Amino acid sequence: PESKLPKVGTTIFSVMSHLAAQHDAVNLSQGFPDFEGPELMRERVAFYMANGANQYAPMTGAEPLRAAIAEKVQRLYGYSACSEKEVTITSGATEAIFAAISAVVRQGDEVVVFDPAYDCYEPAIELNGGICRHLPLSLPDFSINWDLLKDTLSPRTRMIIVNTPHNPSGATLSRTDLDLLAELIRDTHILLLGDEVYEHIVFDQQPHNSLLCHSELAARSFVVSSFGKTYHTTGWKVGYCIAPEPLTTELRKVHQYLTFSTATPFQLAIADYMQQHPEYTTALPGFYQEKRDLFCQLLQSSSFDFSPTKGTYFQLVDYSRISEMDDVSFARWLTSEKGVAAIPVSVFCEQPVPDMKLVRFCFAKGEQTLHLAGERLSQL
Ligand code: PMP
Ligand code: GLN
Repeated sequence: PESKLPKVGTTIFSVMSHLAAQHDAVNLSQGFPDFEGPELMRERVAFYMANGANQYAPMTGAEPLRAAIAEKVQRLYGYSACSEKEVTITSGATEAIFAAISAVVRQGDEVVVFDPAYDCYEPAIELNGGICRHLPLSLPDFSINWDLLKDTLSPRTRMIIVNTPHNPSGATLSRTDLDLLAELIRDTHILLLGDEVYEHIVFDQQPHNSLLCHSELAARSFVVSSFGKTYHTTGWKVGYCIAPEPLTTELRKVHQYLTFSTATPFQLAIADYMQQHPEYTTALPGFYQEKRDLFCQLLQSSSFDFSPTKGTYFQLVDYSRISEMDDVSFARWLTSEKGVAAIPVSVFCEQPVPDMKLVRFCFAKGEQTLHLAGERLSQL
């Protein structure tokens, strides 16, 4: 049969992790930590599994977890979310993103994404009959070109997807960016999808400027996050979406037939941990900044060029001084010949950017792993 997604192959994350395993390379490609999340939280999962919390969670999510999220966004972003009507637990951020897009994008609607764009947006848009409009971020700092965005918006624009901190570049939106965005869409019906899965990984004492901090934007936003990133548990696949009631109502119509609900013991364990350790998220930037700084220090003796990432657990590096290869070939060569796996950046762009020689490393790794990678990379 004719494919509904002719352009889609196997995601680059699976491809590179597989290649890394084949060559026994240090896997700095797919983004996941090689260390464990909080022990107490993992113990609570075991506790709930042993004590009868093994049936369906409520469709909207376990009540204590929704309450803990509402408390957190009030404390951090000054946003009052009704935990019953505006917070939905999903099976990872991926499900939240798919459900939000499916809930509001109709045949022929345009959705703006900024390239390089995380790879799950476009297939969700296309499966719903929408048209994905790719706008390149401006190099070298991966900022939004507001004039270009203004020229792209039309009565057909249904949604803009913003990802801050941004995967793969680590770029973050400033408060001024949020104001500019608000100005551009003020008299329109355009909705926003905020992919904020790295909300708690922002460096150099900078704040995370969530769409939730901006009341005008929050009023038309789906804001998505992932416990996988925050608690080093990407395999649990628990995320959430916060949106005003009318948007949440539509989101839940999709969610209830997509997955219905998310694994119960994980939700209850995360809720317990959030209640007992609200300070955890405040400590996370320092935890990852140490890793960023170590990794950047190790890269100093290589010929990669880079500026330290502002957020996420990814570091982009420019390999122009090392090779003339395109980035996909370079990432493969680096994996198979030099023993360090990375993600090429061009796969996240609709239009190839001439002379862009960038690959992404994930530094959510223990010191030993980072040192081993550093040793191998410093020979380049
Ligand atoms: N958005 C971005 C930008 C991501 O990097 C990721 C995960 N790597 C996701 C969404 C998906 O998160 P989850 O694993 O919770 O589905
Ligand atoms: N988001 C992770 C990354 O950017 C990968 C998630 C996945 O493998 N689907 O590397």
